[in-house]
Amino acid sequence: MSIAVRNVSKKFGVASVLDRVSFEAKTGTLVALLGPSGSGKTTLLRIIAGLENPDSGNVLYQDDDVTQSSARERNVGFVFQHYALFRHMTVFENVAFGLRVRHWAEPRIKERVFELLKLVRLEDLAGRYPSQLSGGQKQRIALIRALAPQPRVILLDEPFGALDAKVRMELRTWLRRFHDEFHVTSIFVTHDQEEAFEVADQIVVMNQGKIEQTGTPVEVFEHPANAFVMDFLGNVN
Ligand code: ADP
Repeated sequence: MSIAVRNVSKKFGVASVLDRVSFEAKTGTLVALLGPSGSGKTTLLRIIAGLENPDSGNVLYQDDDVTQSSARERNVGFVFQHYALFRHMTVFENVAFGLRVRHWAEPRIKERVFELLKLVRLEDLAGRYPSQLSGGQKQRIALIRALAPQPRVILLDEPFGALDAKVRMELRTWLRRFHDEFHVTSIFVTHDQEEAFEVADQIVVMNQGKIEQTGTPVEVFEHPANAFVMDFLGNVN
């Protein structure tokens, strides 16, 4: 499912956070929203998710204008930086949650949850609680929990921001693999240019609520559109 953002603007009080932002994520692409802290990436992702309303402009899923519809109605999978796993639920129940609210039958839930747990090689941890998992394990669970109800769109906000370098690399590979295997369209927020270049098909470079450039990693890397993009890419974290 393609996602289009058309002329989206948003203010918090008098501060303009997004200023006529437009871009398109084609069906099946993995798009990175890349930019420094405070550039509006999370706000844009929340608007795409339906967690925040734009002041003006539209969000389209395929050919449907979803600007007025809720996050629930958009049927997207989310992954947040700080896991947001339910602490009082086991790993199994965390992954099953989205299936239960969609009234899947119990045998089908069990089958789906174990199929996904096996995929991330965590089936032995089904009965554990999030506090008994490492950061990397938690994010693998967060990834499969987002994918469990078979959404066609996955939105990730700095999904690996809180993890150390080695685990981050590992999770990039998982993200790429899941994105491809499950045929989803994914948009992820990052301030880490290396992560964006390594994982994404398409990069949207943001700065102060505006899009500075969109393109493939090669296009952006080889032909930065302006001084900001050139500076930002040169500024390795
Ligand atoms: P990024 O994800 O690129 O760091 P954000 O979208 O989180 O950027 O924030 C962009 C700007 O909007 C920041 O200046 C931030 O302080 C402001 N902002 C974000 N959310 C709110 C809010 N709910 N109320 C007021 N200001 C906000």
